[in-house]
Amino acid sequence: MRIVPTLALAALVSGCAVSTQQEVEMGIGYAQQIAKELPLIQDAELNRYINVLGDSIARIADSRNLDWHFFIVDSKDVNAFAVPGGFIYLNRGLIERSTNMAQVAGVIGHEIGHVTMRHSIQQMQKSQGANIGINAVCALTSICNNDATSAAINIGAGAAFANFSRSDEDEADGEGLKYLLGAGIDPAGIPEMFQILLQERKTKPDALESWFRSHPLEESRIAAARARIAAYPPERVRGLTTDSPNFQAFKKRLAALAPSPPSR
Ligand SMILES: [Zn+2]
Repeated sequence: MRIVPTLALAALVSGCAVSTQQEVEMGIGYAQQIAKELPLIQDAELNRYINVLGDSIARIADSRNLDWHFFIVDSKDVNAFAVPGGFIYLNRGLIERSTNMAQVAGVIGHEIGHVTMRHSIQQMQKSQGANIGINAVCALTSICNNDATSAAINIGAGAAFANFSRSDEDEADGEGLKYLLGAGIDPAGIPEMFQILLQERKTKPDALESWFRSHPLEESRIAAARARIAAYPPERVRGLTTDSPNFQAFKKRLAALAPSPPSR
């Protein structure tokens, strides 16, 4: 699996900081590759819903006026990842495990946080030292972890783009929470979704493997998210939207699709 947008390499080799424009072009390159490699849901109504929900959060989050795109990966495995420039991917398996809109919004908020805080870009710029180019490319792509034929972007992309430090994860959680509040969505969705996944891991660890590989998650992270919410004045977190009929219709429509293709 080779995903090496030329711009990424050019930026790395020249040792320049990555501009927003370069970031977006890089993101478009990754997104095109992902569209070839991953089974994305093509249903127009489902895509419209996830983009409306995503945009309602991104609008709060983004000060760079990025053009955001939200995709549903037709996989029963639980995962979510973000690509620089504003491309967010949620696995069908993750959405199917949610019980309300705020939980999915929480994951979207977290992934948006990785993009707005430029975690991938920072990682890339950081690793520009001694081993110019290849290390940084490795940090961002799956080419070093998988042999060329494994086509394991399902794992690769998740690991590649979510190969973040715990402090990045923590920052993305905090950002996601802020965005949800700004969008009028109940931030309790964040710890709730984590709790659902942690619970299921105890009984069916396989389906959640890729999620947990890229999203370190323990009770402490759930507690941290709850503590963050508790630190807000109660009136700030009261009366926010937790669910909607549109979300439940979206879930129903997703569930009615043919089963996801088997993971590769
Ligand atoms: Zn993350």
